[in-house]
Amino acid sequence: PVHRSTEVQEARLRLPILAEEQQVMETINENPIVIVAGETGSGKTTQLPQFLYEAGYAQHKMIGVTEPRRVAAIAMSKRVAHEMNLPESEVSYLIRFEGNVTPATRIKFMTDGVLLKEIETDFLLSKYSVIILDEAHERSVYTDILVGLLSRIVPLRNKRGQPLKLIIMSATLRVTDFTENTRLFKIPPPLLKVEARQFPVTIHFQKRTPDDYVAEAYRKTLKIHNQLPEGGILIFVTGQQEVNQLVRKLRRTFPYHPPAKDVAEVDKVSQEAKEETKDDAAETVEDPKELEFDMKRVIRNIRKSKKKFLAQIALPKINLDDYKLPGDDTEADMHEQEDDADNEREGLEEDQEDDDELGLEGESGMASGQRQPLWVLPLYSLLSSEKQNRIFQPVPEGCRLCVVSTNVAETSLTIPHIKYVVDCGRQKTRLYDKLTGVSAFVVTYTSKASADQRAGRAGRISAGHCYRLYSSAVYNDCFEDFSQPDIQKKPVEDLMLQMRCMGIDRVVHFPFPSPPDQVQLQAAEQRLTVLGALEATKSEKTDLPPAVTRLGQVISRFPVAPRFGKMLALSHQQNLLPYTVCLVAALSVQEVLIETGVQRDEDVAPGANRFHRKRQSWAASGNYQLLGDPMVLLRAVGAAEYAGSQGRLSEFCATNGLRQKAMSEVRKLRVQLTNEINLNVSDVELGVDPELKPPTDAQARFLRQILLAGMGDRVARKVPLADIADKEERRRLKYAYHCADMEEPAFLHVSSVLRQKTPEWVVYQEVYELQNGDSTKMFIRGITAIE
Ligand code: ADP
Ligand code: MG
Repeated sequence: PVHRSTEVQEARLRLPILAEEQQVMETINENPIVIVAGETGSGKTTQLPQFLYEAGYAQHKMIGVTEPRRVAAIAMSKRVAHEMNLPESEVSYLIRFEGNVTPATRIKFMTDGVLLKEIETDFLLSKYSVIILDEAHERSVYTDILVGLLSRIVPLRNKRGQPLKLIIMSATLRVTDFTENTRLFKIPPPLLKVEARQFPVTIHFQKRTPDDYVAEAYRKTLKIHNQLPEGGILIFVTGQQEVNQLVRKLRRTFPYHPPAKDVAEVDKVSQEAKEETKDDAAETVEDPKELEFDMKRVIRNIRKSKKKFLAQIALPKINLDDYKLPGDDTEADMHEQEDDADNEREGLEEDQEDDDELGLEGESGMASGQRQPLWVLPLYSLLSSEKQNRIFQPVPEGCRLCVVSTNVAETSLTIPHIKYVVDCGRQKTRLYDKLTGVSAFVVTYTSKASADQRAGRAGRISAGHCYRLYSSAVYNDCFEDFSQPDIQKKPVEDLMLQMRCMGIDRVVHFPFPSPPDQVQLQAAEQRLTVLGALEATKSEKTDLPPAVTRLGQVISRFPVAPRFGKMLALSHQQNLLPYTVCLVAALSVQEVLIETGVQRDEDVAPGANRFHRKRQSWAASGNYQLLGDPMVLLRAVGAAEYAGSQGRLSEFCATNGLRQKAMSEVRKLRVQLTNEINLNVSDVELGVDPELKPPTDAQARFLRQILLAGMGDRVARKVPLADIADKEERRRLKYAYHCADMEEPAFLHVSSVLRQKTPEWVVYQEVYELQNGDSTKMFIRGITAIE
């Protein structure tokens, strides 16, 4: 029996799901797989595990709950332990590299990546009686793969007479990918809807869509606080830095002066505010959602016991992690200071423009100018759990609650007492470079579904208001209805290799909730075989697809597309890794070199480009013959980094035709890749040398072989001109190459340092298309000659 405090019991009784306990449990008892959909805050995550516990599901085996976000795994385990009055040794969490699970654990919250890893060693998940996949609407790659795997594990367990229950929970009713996909579940699982009381939320669009949404959020919050009746404010921005920036500014504008007895408490808070600022500068990670762990801590751990650590990585390439990197803060900090200065000015001006901007007529609010204190709290993934917990604690007398959050507060954590939502309409999204597979975070508009979720946060206690910091035109034209499942954004080759390394053999037949393109999956398998990541011959006895090779295992640990993973794997000699890392980073960034002749016909004399000669000279050392275009990139990055370390970056970029912004992106990616490699690959301790010296001849020879090995399927042959009688045609095809799998020839671009030589055989990094008048023309870039 569970002994809950009266306080907890009262809070539970207010949750909509509590009224449905009986029906929920009956459905679960009668069906192996159940889908539960209910509005955020209806009590799914905190209550369902308790229902199951009280129904006896934790008696012999565990109740497992997965969360895509590590912050939710921690916060929810603590909350449930508290509500049930059980120690953390029994209601526990496990995220990558951290947790408090014990042999006594009965309810286990974990990230989806952790459960996937457990399936590798215990396919039937024999320690669990129930698995709850929470936040399935987020469609994270790992949760999608788990749904597919569990759709097979559940019947297997039933067959063995040790039934396993699967509960898929979603904050939205958009679950047809799970209910109507008969390849996934032959019998559609029942869908339970938890009806939650939701008060109407009035949506206010902005006339214009300002670029500086952080400044705009500040202005809007000021107005709400000064003019509107009480009720908490929840502000959505995109990342940790924005959160801290806004929190600082709001705290400065509406300082909280506590009654004398509370001074100690406030000192603590202002001390913490300082720490947050400090953290912010030193913080290695920026993104709220995708992070699985704290980079700094991990690096410390690795140093302590790299061996032990490596033994833990059975799952190669856990790639949900992103790091903002040490040394990377300067630029951001500068921006931040600029922003601060700007906004301070705006804040003083206090816009007097359109008075009904808040859309509230007749409602009486605080007299303008009266400075009621604002209780401002930050919320993002990497905030310590104690500080996160402050959002649930009572607000000091006379204060208004104001939480500045990343999209953590969209569905994962429900903040109480919110009446006003300020939504910047953006989020950080992981985008993969289609060439190199390197991922970076960019700020994009959210989906309409996300915008509606965010607005919904305002309608939990009474009618609320949502202020969208963008126009209705932008909402209609630029917001997708729903965001695409992550699995469909990930490069297929990556996904294929990663799943194969998890021990999933038939990826092509895998029951994905929303499958990636079949043809592409098959092609990926072939390309991986060509690369040597999969065995060349099928095993004779079974009809299984070719096995993953040792090289394949290594490749999968690099957070880049497999062909570049191979290059990195092979670079593990002669001190070549720094060059390959640099090359992959440079290739991931578009338009490193400013091309003045890009749009023109390619027959423009090479000398016409004023930067061209310079680049020819970079490549013209003895190594030029060997590496071709990639050498230009290496030299450009090396020289620019050196100039940068001397404080001459912009000058250097200007005189050499390099895009300065591209150079800082290259640097960022270099640092990111270096860190990820240090983390995931044994016996490597890479640094990022600002002064990357040009490779020696011996190194260049090796690099060349590595390039050829990685690009083995991207070979092109010069169109033989001797057979062409027509002079015009010969002229047209002077720089033309036949590429494998392509009918039309592609051309050497003006910027290629191999234009003069036009070697017979080349490998290339990428084919791309340029508009040329009415027609388009194909070019190949990143050319290396094959002797
Ligand atoms: P759902 O999963 O359906 O979105 P939850 O189970 O996460 O809902 O939340 C149910 C309620 O529990 C919410 O009102 C939320 O504010 C409250 N809650 C969650 N964590 C805490 C906590 N640490 N302290 C107080 N209340 C909490
Ligand atoms: Mg939840």
